[in-house]
Amino acid sequence: MNWINEVETPCYVIDVDKLLKNLKILRFVKEKTGCKILLAQKAYSVYQTYPLIAEYLDGCTASGLFEARLGYEEMPAGENHVFSPAYKEEDMDELLKICDHIVFNSPKQWAKFRSKVRKSPKKIEVGIRVNPEYSEIETDIYNPCFTGSRLGTTLSQFKEDLSLAEGIDGLHFHTMCEQNADVLARTLPRFEEKFGFMLNKIKWVNFGGGHHITRTDYDLELLISTICNFKSKYNLEVYLEPGEAVALNAGYLVTTVLDTMKNGCDIAITDASAACHMPDVLEMPYRPNIIGAGQPHEKPFTCRIGGNTCLAGDIIGDYSFDEKLREGDRLVFKDMAIYSICKNNTFNGIPLPSVYLLGENGEIKLLKTFGYEDFKTRL
Ligand SMILES: *Cc1c(COP(=O)(O)O)cnc(C)c1O
Repeated sequence: MNWINEVETPCYVIDVDKLLKNLKILRFVKEKTGCKILLAQKAYSVYQTYPLIAEYLDGCTASGLFEARLGYEEMPAGENHVFSPAYKEEDMDELLKICDHIVFNSPKQWAKFRSKVRKSPKKIEVGIRVNPEYSEIETDIYNPCFTGSRLGTTLSQFKEDLSLAEGIDGLHFHTMCEQNADVLARTLPRFEEKFGFMLNKIKWVNFGGGHHITRTDYDLELLISTICNFKSKYNLEVYLEPGEAVALNAGYLVTTVLDTMKNGCDIAITDASAACHMPDVLEMPYRPNIIGAGQPHEKPFTCRIGGNTCLAGDIIGDYSFDEKLREGDRLVFKDMAIYSICKNNTFNGIPLPSVYLLGENGEIKLLKTFGYEDFKTRL
């Protein structure tokens, strides 16, 4: 990995080889099941790699107008889906031009925009997101089924006025997060129990994202049989829209140690920040892995790594290393392609990391750098 010392830091590096490996697994699932798989751009939207993704997947999905537009402009082929908890009147006109599938959060939202959608010269497939009120996610911030959730319509609300749902082509549920196929296999019967009465009136069901399909311990066989059984039972098209699984482990965040100090423990300050460059570390929270580092006290030198902001809690985590860290050392955080670049910010005037592409031939290519203007022009 010679490139580690060639890049300017902080930077994200997208590993095309790893991305391809994921895409091949996803294509395998498609081939075995006949389902369609879309990239959820919320997790990963390095559009410079969309041409590659388009060779393997069926298109992309968006969480609103801007992502939908990015998919329309940059994904060379395939379908362009959008879901939003609530659409704005003025966005709908543009969405109708650039999307082919629009998923509404409720029958009420669909009824509000129905005449507009029907008047569109382009054929639009319409879905409604439902909340099957079953999920196995423990972190509420990532659980669309927690009590009082605004995401998707519950059965009781759906049934309040069934006429509102008339004319839809599909149903959508998204209830998973970083989970294996067993969770889908337990979720699906709950969905069928509640919304089974709709399944002979529609053409497709979208099983959402959160399927960790490209993880090494993922049960592909169970995913494949679950989809195949569902498809043959109802004769419906099935969509999956993973974000994480597309670019899982396909990127790094490279950082330089700027200084070291002691306060009860050894501390290193880096030019990468949890708050700015990997917000999920604080939101989830979790501790990202560093290449060559271990758990605290596993290796001879234990050190706390923190970012270069003035936020006291901008701590990435505690790690151990073979040797004492020194100024100028480079650290490589793993699995940094997802929910990182698309979530980063310039809090505290901290620069945005550059983005590099590590090609199949091991060649490193700079895609983008950022500067002071990117900070200033946000204001
Ligand atoms: C976030 C999200 C996804 C992607 O989820 P991953 O966990 O990244 O696979 C898909 N669909 C919807 C509606 C989402 O909100």
